[in-house]
Amino acid sequence: MEARAREADVVVVGAGIVGCATAYFLARRGMRVVVERGRVPGEQSRKNWGFVRQQGRDPLEMPLMLEANRMWRGLERELGADIEWIQGGNLALAADETRMARFEQWLPVAREFGLPTRLLRAHELNAVVPGLAGGFVGGMHTPGDGHADPEKTTDAFARAALAHGASLRFACAVQRVTTRAGAVDGVVTEHGEIRAPTVVCAAGAWSSRLARTLGLALPQRWVRGTVARTTPVPAVTACAVWGPGVAFRQRRDGSFTIAAGGALDHDVTLDSLRQLRFFLPNFWKNKAMFRFHIGRPLLASLAAALPGSAARRQPLVWDRDLEPPPNPAKVRRSLAELQRLLPALPPLGIASRWAGYIDAAPDLVPVLGEAPQLRGFVFATGFSGHGFAMGPIAGRLVSELIVDGKPSLDISGFRFSRFAEGAIGRPRNVL
Ligand SMILES: Cc1cc2nc3c(=O)[nH]c(=O)nc-3n(C[C@H](O)[C@H](O)[C@H](O)COP(=O)(O)OP(=O)(O)OC[C@H]3O[C@@H](n4cnc5c(N)ncnc54)[C@H](O)[C@@H]3O)c2cc1C
Repeated sequence: MEARAREADVVVVGAGIVGCATAYFLARRGMRVVVERGRVPGEQSRKNWGFVRQQGRDPLEMPLMLEANRMWRGLERELGADIEWIQGGNLALAADETRMARFEQWLPVAREFGLPTRLLRAHELNAVVPGLAGGFVGGMHTPGDGHADPEKTTDAFARAALAHGASLRFACAVQRVTTRAGAVDGVVTEHGEIRAPTVVCAAGAWSSRLARTLGLALPQRWVRGTVARTTPVPAVTACAVWGPGVAFRQRRDGSFTIAAGGALDHDVTLDSLRQLRFFLPNFWKNKAMFRFHIGRPLLASLAAALPGSAARRQPLVWDRDLEPPPNPAKVRRSLAELQRLLPALPPLGIASRWAGYIDAAPDLVPVLGEAPQLRGFVFATGFSGHGFAMGPIAGRLVSELIVDGKPSLDISGFRFSRFAEGAIGRPRNVL
């Protein structure tokens, strides 16, 4: 997009919402930034549901999400762009009392952080989602939550970063991070070297691979999420809804973004086996949540491990154009469930469908901050299925860490060293 810099204050690897937000806040503080990336801004960041939710989170994330929510409310003004922000609340539905009890356990967290989250009984649900069919014992509702368009938001951060002087390169993967005397020295990209004292790892699902080139073991599991968009209908609800059978939100044009509930698709690869020890303890407790697929991705990862393969020569480039297939059964199920939940809707068609790999840390909270072993190497990754909502605050805090030496909110709970310390707790989120 512009003349090729050979030196930068910071190189951000990955231009998803996290990388672009980091670049934007750094550029606003006068730092020259180079964001390295694939062919369009973001991977997961353009494929997600678009939920911006505070409710149901791990208590560790709450201070960040409260501030993120405040930022989201002013983001269209700040970025000067239409990102389809709708502050219509978030409703998690419960089909049985066990689920309601789980929601109830989270209420002390809401109270501690002053969030007006409420449990709704069945007869109160219609006030939030008019015409919602029965079959639920109740739900958990936070009126201040919202949703936005993933592509528009990621693109808006990318454009705002450029407008403030960041440099953004396309189709220019970082192949290697160079180091000298225990500190980062720069990166080697497909199109040459860039010297920089700070490198931010915002490479989403590829962060683990990038870290491995430096001898850093970052545990990351990949889960394949399938999403679809329906044909438009007149407005029904502004609230984003997460039910046991379908999650949905209605967009400004009247179409719904939908995703099926039920087991998560995990495509087994060599990495699944390599990282087993980190995931096994929590996996056994949640094994009903996963459906394992042994097929093309496993074969591809085995072929990638062969000496002389493209993957061995260029481990950070070879699967850049990876487009995981959406699960057709999930698309069918989610549409049928949406029509069941909102029976007054006319028959809907599927306008588009897609899938994306979600990167998940063993404790389902992100990894933020400098790697203790390597000065200048900063993690901003591992958002575990909820990093769209956290993108703006994660980018701002990482920029503060780099510019001021200290972020304005405590991120010590997200330190990379927790894995080596064996301090990986059980996930404490309820959604
Ligand atoms: C189906 C689905 C539904 C989701 N729903 C929600 C939701 O409702 N709410 C929510 O908050 N979150 C949701 N998420 C999660 C959310 O999308 C992610 O947590 C978030 O987008 C992560 O942003 P990122 O910038 O870290 O990653 P990404 O957007 O994946 O960006 C990483 C970028 O790094 C680039 N990259 C990787 N390696 C290199 C390299 N070596 N050199 C250069 N570039 C590199 C990639 O090309 C990519 O563009 C969902 C995710 C999916 C897939």
